Amino acid sequence: MIDQHTVDRIIAAADITEVVQDYVTLKKRGVNYLGLCPFHNEKTPSFTVSPSKGIYKCFGCGKGGNSVNFIMEHEHMGYVDALKFLAHKYHIEVVEKEVTPEELQQRNERESLMVVTAYAQRHFSETLHKHSDGKTIGMAYFRERSFRDDIIEKFQLGYCLDNRDAFTRTAIREGYKLDYLVKTGLTIQHNEDTFDRFQGRVMFPIHSVSGRVIAFGGRILKTDKKLAKYLNSPESEIYHKSGILYGIFHAKKSITQENKCFLVEGYTDVISLHQAGIENVVASSGTSLTVDQIRLIKRFTPNVTILYDGDAAGIKASLRGIDLVLEEGLNVKVTLLPEGEDPDSYARAHSASELLDYIAKNETDFIAFKTRLLLEEAKADPIKRAGLISDIVRSIAVIPDSIIRSVYIKECSRLLDIQENVLYTEVSSNRRKKMEQIMGRVHTEIDVKTTPPLPGFISNIFCEEQEKEIVYYMLRYGSVVFWEPDEGDETLESITIGQYIINEILNDDLEFKNLMYQKIFNEYRAQLEINPDVDNRYFVNHPDSQISQIAVDFLSTPHKLSKIWAKHQAFDEDETEFLHRAVPKTIIVFKSKVMQIAIKKLHEELKKLNPTTQIEEINEVLGRIKMLINLQNTLSQDLERIVL
Ligand SMILES: [Zn+2]
Repeated sequence: MIDQHTVDRIIAAADITEVVQDYVTLKKRGVNYLGLCPFHNEKTPSFTVSPSKGIYKCFGCGKGGNSVNFIMEHEHMGYVDALKFLAHKYHIEVVEKEVTPEELQQRNERESLMVVTAYAQRHFSETLHKHSDGKTIGMAYFRERSFRDDIIEKFQLGYCLDNRDAFTRTAIREGYKLDYLVKTGLTIQHNEDTFDRFQGRVMFPIHSVSGRVIAFGGRILKTDKKLAKYLNSPESEIYHKSGILYGIFHAKKSITQENKCFLVEGYTDVISLHQAGIENVVASSGTSLTVDQIRLIKRFTPNVTILYDGDAAGIKASLRGIDLVLEEGLNVKVTLLPEGEDPDSYARAHSASELLDYIAKNETDFIAFKTRLLLEEAKADPIKRAGLISDIVRSIAVIPDSIIRSVYIKECSRLLDIQENVLYTEVSSNRRKKMEQIMGRVHTEIDVKTTPPLPGFISNIFCEEQEKEIVYYMLRYGSVVFWEPDEGDETLESITIGQYIINEILNDDLEFKNLMYQKIFNEYRAQLEINPDVDNRYFVNHPDSQISQIAVDFLSTPHKLSKIWAKHQAFDEDETEFLHRAVPKTIIVFKSKVMQIAIKKLHEELKKLNPTTQIEEINEVLGRIKMLINLQNTLSQDLERIVL
């Protein structure tokens, strides 16, 4: 690995003209250079270099890129070697991303801490199997839960003696440093005194994703009201609670295979399910789910099923946390176990196939589950009902995928007996509010060509043709100022083309069918949050070669999509004077096309309805069509005003 600073220096130094000139004779043409393409055979030059954009592009064979790409292509090198090659040319010292002394020390410290936790795990297991207390107290507990030997082995369960600092003393005698024992939380130091944190507890080692022991959970066996039933290792250099799930190491293979992850609450739930033969299961160990934990699951599967025991209070407490899971785009389902059962007890009393069967029969999607749960509570109380609706709408609004959102809206409309339109409007307005918070501005105040909003039910309709154009403007002219407030007006900030496009698309929840464009759009939006002036070199030099290729194409190729540009085919023709009209035009045309498609779909829907029995549905569809036609009229009026 070359460190990022060095990469930046190399890219900044490697002037595209200089790099290319080592291989190709270039002639100046306007602001660009022209030469014979080194990548294909040609007699008339079509290989163009733009020093201002830092890119080359051959209009004959289509190859294009930045300096690094040129070397990769020409010298048949990988990315890192090409960087080193250029570094050599420009006498830049390559700093490999090796470690600073502090990093080295930190790494060594982490390593030392893990050596200590690994030792502790071995020690606790040995105590469980060999010490008389371990056998009569610790093992007796596991036997009572009917844990098999192979499972006790697999999860490396153990026991910590109920003897003040017996473990700490042994560890120190065997050469482990007190400092590390304290830092891993195994030992508690109080003035000169030391205690074992987990005395008298059965031990559940917590493994990292790669299977190393990084912390412990301990369960007390005495009945002492003053002591917590479960105790966890404190946060340490190697254990960040919020980023780890109990069982992830033992579950990850099965999660990938089954493409599904069961989420339970406790250590014993995970272990009992494993024992029953269900291995794709992890526990959040008591705390409510964090974003990092959700992302950890997402590395292996997008499908999560939460297994709840029948305790209503516990369920309600966890509902809020689940919006986070939805927001990360996971598919959340819920299975409620029979009254009085938890995953642990249920798994012990049933076989794997019985359990899986039960789950399959009782699994509901989360939104429906939440709706039913809250409905039951609200009953006929109108105020509670209103609260319930906005609660559900909030949950649906955080789901990133519009297709999934519309499925949920349909279902909730049925469950709540509310028209879909109403829910759509609510969900859109929720998303819009959130967007405005993110963008840090209220654009309703801005009297520019903000196009009228589309109704929410219009999502999932794509129009690929305009997508390209939109992304083109975003990449090529994103940082050009699109709108400026009147002089002296400090309440508003100017808006760039990039911001305008992002707002327009997000406000209406529109998405791109072309996944690469969608990806660029998302990254652009993320970049925008860091800096309003997004440098298009970010995309030209993007590590994803597909993105970099698109950026190069857009930056090098003049716009051929709109007739007006046909007259301005030259490489660097100044389109900027047209932008204020061209960009809104593209957006309006995009929206109009989306609406055209939507109207067509509604007409098809209409044909399927029975005019004698489905009058209500017919009226709803007709209402939508009318709404869209009105909008189209408004849009075409807008369009007339902008005509190019
Ligand atoms: Zn070529």
